[in-house]
Amino acid sequence: MKTTIIRMDNENIDHKALEAAGKVIRSGGLVAFPTETVYGLGGDALNPEASGKIYAAKGRPSDNPLIVHICRVEDLFKVAGDVNEAAVKLAEKYWPGPLTMIFKKKDIVPFKTTGGLDTVAVRMPDNGIAAGFIKASGGFIAAPSANLSGRPSPTDADHVIKDLDGRIDMIIDGGPCIIGLESTIVDMTGSVPMILRPGYITGDMIKAVTGSVEYDPAVISDVPEDIRPKAPGMKYRHYAPKGELVIVRGGRDEVRSYICAGIDEDLKSGRRSAVLSADETKDDYKVAALVISVGARDDEDMIARHLYAALRRCDDENIEAIYSEDFSTPRIGQAIMNRLIKAAGHRIVEV
Ligand code: AMP
Ligand code: MG
Repeated sequence: MKTTIIRMDNENIDHKALEAAGKVIRSGGLVAFPTETVYGLGGDALNPEASGKIYAAKGRPSDNPLIVHICRVEDLFKVAGDVNEAAVKLAEKYWPGPLTMIFKKKDIVPFKTTGGLDTVAVRMPDNGIAAGFIKASGGFIAAPSANLSGRPSPTDADHVIKDLDGRIDMIIDGGPCIIGLESTIVDMTGSVPMILRPGYITGDMIKAVTGSVEYDPAVISDVPEDIRPKAPGMKYRHYAPKGELVIVRGGRDEVRSYICAGIDEDLKSGRRSAVLSADETKDDYKVAALVISVGARDDEDMIARHLYAALRRCDDENIEAIYSEDFSTPRIGQAIMNRLIKAAGHRIVEV
């Protein structure tokens, strides 16, 4: 299949091109599009065949549900049942934005879109291109992240092209994503909102609106198999680079000694290694062939924005061993570390 690539930016939206993209969706095709979190791989959420194509293009297990993206808050009520007051308040406060809410699904949403579940995940992205594209497509776009299953999520159109060129109809290149981590997922079907996947919208931000919040235990656990996550996608290997990633936690000197000793060993055995560091510590690892700084320690937005591109760069450079510092920053550190720990297959060394 030939993949058409169209380019635009949020200050200069090409509505005619978005109409063409909408036409692709209406005829059952697939279009990758930018959002503020990561790039999504979109199909018509109300067309089971389109959802089937999304799973096939990504190589995604069919029990891993898709998120339904909307561009008008009122459209929520067409796909979701039992929308409670807390959800309405959260939508008022954080939509459009990086918050996905789970509700009882309405019949109009095919089971193919929800991975067989009777619930539906809904989000309204905060990105003008995404909003225009969803509107031109009829209002309901099913989309997971636009990467091959298991790979780090795409935060730039180049990442999408690398994974999906030739497998989908169209890619809208809208430049790099501002946030760089997937949305927060909150289950709204119980009496208290429950966070299934941490993201830019934190538990405190949700609690400030609803008065209470709970966490799926799998969100805070470092241990892989003991707890089964409620968001089906969280049980699969995710966000993973090809090289073996290990997170090294501890004081600066101890982390430096451990990583530099590891790199020495790698050099002796001919393994190509890399380090993910903060700006402040990037010169600690001079022995490494590749040191990627993801940002200053006090700029956690920057760290989040650069994380996936850093993991993908390791793949591009055929890196076999990756050592990462810990990025447990105050606000979105939980989301950053949730992704990094999964990418590391839960390999964490305390020094
Ligand atoms: P992705 O953003 O590519 O990881 O895909 C969407 C994520 O949303 C997956 O991790 C899904 O498990 C999660 N998700 C979508 N629908 C539901 C749902 N009804 N219940 C729980 N999690 C969901
Ligand atoms: Mg994904």
